[in-house]
Amino acid sequence: MNNNNRIAIVGAGVAGIALAILATKQGYQVSLYERASKVSSLGAGVTLWPNAIFILQQMGLEKEIKRMGGEPSCMRQFDQYGGQQGEFDLEAVNTCSGFSTVTILRRELMNILATALNDLGVKIHFSCSMTVADVEQLKQEFDLVVGADGRMNSVVRQTLYPEMVKPCYQGFINIIGISQLEEDALANAIYDFRGPGERFGIVPITDGLCFWAAGWSTEIDKTRPLSSWFDEMHQRFVNWPESVKSVLKSYEKSSLKRIFVHDLKPLPYWHQDNVLIIGDAAHAPLPTSGQGACQALEDAWHLVRLLETEDGLDNALSSFYLQRIVKTSAIQTTGRQLAQRILTNDSETLPFVSGISAKQLSEFWMQGLKIK
Ligand SMILES: Cc1cc2nc3c(=O)[nH]c(=O)nc-3n(C[C@H](O)[C@H](O)[C@H](O)COP(=O)(O)OP(=O)(O)OC[C@H]3O[C@@H](n4cnc5c(N)ncnc54)[C@H](O)[C@@H]3O)c2cc1C
Repeated sequence: MNNNNRIAIVGAGVAGIALAILATKQGYQVSLYERASKVSSLGAGVTLWPNAIFILQQMGLEKEIKRMGGEPSCMRQFDQYGGQQGEFDLEAVNTCSGFSTVTILRRELMNILATALNDLGVKIHFSCSMTVADVEQLKQEFDLVVGADGRMNSVVRQTLYPEMVKPCYQGFINIIGISQLEEDALANAIYDFRGPGERFGIVPITDGLCFWAAGWSTEIDKTRPLSSWFDEMHQRFVNWPESVKSVLKSYEKSSLKRIFVHDLKPLPYWHQDNVLIIGDAAHAPLPTSGQGACQALEDAWHLVRLLETEDGLDNALSSFYLQRIVKTSAIQTTGRQLAQRILTNDSETLPFVSGISAKQLSEFWMQGLKIK
């Protein structure tokens, strides 16, 4: 695509802003539309694995991300009584990958991305809740329309799949939050506590600040008040190990969110004419994969490279699908398998990354990320 060409992006989440930054740097004219009135910081925190840090380095943001984030050294798995079941060396994964693993609050990540975009002189059009009709209009006005409008109700996905692709509820909820603990309470380790049908994960950032997620299997019930879900969480985890009790005593009330966790099945195509979906709109995985935001960043990077190197828009969009579908589908599948094992009531707990070496994990995550 000629880089004077114009790209409309729907959704200023991780995928949308990252694409806007990379495409603007490459000389494209970008318009970014967001339904919220400001950059959303939905969600407590994110673990950015080495593949995401590779992309952020390409964007010139690695230093800032590391300044605001933490770099955990290992991941420890326990049963609900505090018996250690396993440990995974993250520094070994980082060494194999050549990039760090960084944990960061979602609001900090979004702030860094939004500031970088603003520094390039691109303003986000806020409070623009696009409809299917708006997308049809954008198709006429822009050379490329990219839907980065998330997993649940992507309108751009709806234009590609008028019969409606519905995200699937995977049978469990997450309650997420942010807590401030004693400075060295977590000893720089990610904690993963598991009981039958229940899980509690705690992720350190720095100086005792951490984000966490409680999960358990349940039916969707949107009629129940939030306070009753939060009470249930306290009851379920009241006798769990000390770190769980500590985060439940010290969270920021405003950070609590209840999420009925959905994902998408791999889709047979992501584009039609000059419309493409990326990020969660195209391939939302479960949070158990730990890779949704990382893959959203990868999408943005691959897309801009293919727009540069492929001959014509249609070739670029077809190549994008072929290049991305295998990795993103594998991540969706892994997320589901892990969730099923952890959150079905009769399952046995499994090591977080069962039977996989640091080298294998690194090779999988870094797949496709070479600079030619
Ligand atoms: C509990 C939990 C924990 C997670 N932890 C991790 C983790 O540790 N690491 C990781 O990599 N990933 C993690 N993820 C996944 C990650 O959050 C998502 O995959 C990522 O945010 C996807 O980015 P996105 O830009 O595609 O979508 P989103 O971040 O959802 O952004 C979509 C944007 O589009 C906007 N929008 C929607 N509809 C419209 C419309 N009609 N018009 C205009 N704008 C619109 C929305 O307001 C939003 O700003 C986690 C997810 C959950 C639920």
